[in-house]
Amino acid sequence: MDASATRIERVDVYGYELTYAHGDYVMSSGRIVNRLPSTVVRITTRAGVTGFGEACPLGATYLPAFGGGARAALKELAPALLGLDASNLAAVGERMDRTLRGHGYAKSALDMACWDVLGKVTGMPIASLLGGVLQTDLPLYVAVPMGPPAEMVAFVQEQRREGIHHFQLKVGDAPEKDAARVEAVVAAIGEEDALVADANGAWRRQDAIIAARLLGRHERLRLEQPCPTLEECLSVRRLCTLPMVLDECITDLGVLVRAVAADAMDQINLKIGRVGGLTRARLIRDAAVKLGLRLMIEDSWGGDIVTAAVSHLAAGTPPEALFAVSFMNDWTMEHVAGYAPRSSAGRGPVPTGPGLGIEVDVAMLGAPLFTVRA
Ligand code: MG
Repeated sequence: MDASATRIERVDVYGYELTYAHGDYVMSSGRIVNRLPSTVVRITTRAGVTGFGEACPLGATYLPAFGGGARAALKELAPALLGLDASNLAAVGERMDRTLRGHGYAKSALDMACWDVLGKVTGMPIASLLGGVLQTDLPLYVAVPMGPPAEMVAFVQEQRREGIHHFQLKVGDAPEKDAARVEAVVAAIGEEDALVADANGAWRRQDAIIAARLLGRHERLRLEQPCPTLEECLSVRRLCTLPMVLDECITDLGVLVRAVAADAMDQINLKIGRVGGLTRARLIRDAAVKLGLRLMIEDSWGGDIVTAAVSHLAAGTPPEALFAVSFMNDWTMEHVAGYAPRSSAGRGPVPTGPGLGIEVDVAMLGAPLFTVRA
């Protein structure tokens, strides 16, 4: 197919609401989410090939990103892509950066849609185009909302019955209360289960150090993003022996390299939208693997489209380097691609069809919020 066939003729931007599947999703600092606006882009090329992408920031206080911001940024970005070759990801990325500084979470949806187009025109799944497939049956994890210890134990037990064996407990409260939460969950799980305590950057350094001491006796526990900044997390890490997972503060390859050089981390929680799309996430994925880190791979939130993109990215990770993946479409109720890819017994498949390998039902998204055409 010649380049004019993959020229971007039209971009439609849709909005839909995603509902959390388990009531209230509770994180540190009183952040509670149960319903969020997700944004879907559909790119259509001159030859009529379509590609889909999705961006769903986790509320307005998780990262410097929010649903309304994604839509406003896409209003700036989408017109700038008209006439570009969707299969030329480098040129698409450069054009986006020349049009709008930052707002990587919005760019992520367009980048994802262009990868979908590239896959469809080449007949290959995105996983192959991102460098190759090393696994097709991905271990999944779920986040356990912060709550009373008994509630968190009940949540974990229910998910274990479903086949999940990787858990991320939401902490970041008073260290003594968090210690009780972790204690209760540790007592309820087995050696086949892996546990992360994620404070989402809520602790002041002193509380983080106390929490790390209290939690330190759980030798198989990992600690995630105890404080907001890399420097604070590093100082906590120097005083504890728990493996350190960094998430919110690793925004690009430069920060990752600095963090590894400072010996700040053992694992990255890699989110496609936080780093600006699949193109950049692949770079960070491959660097993290080569630097000896372990990875969690996911996006901040989303539905079927995000889940498919996550599975393609994770497929290129060596099994020994992958901690677990989140299939966000198990966490949310609305399914725009027939609930595909669909997890089973705690594992997630990687679609094998071209592009994202899913069929998006555009009718479920209603009328576009806006459309731009060449
Ligand atoms: Mg996290």
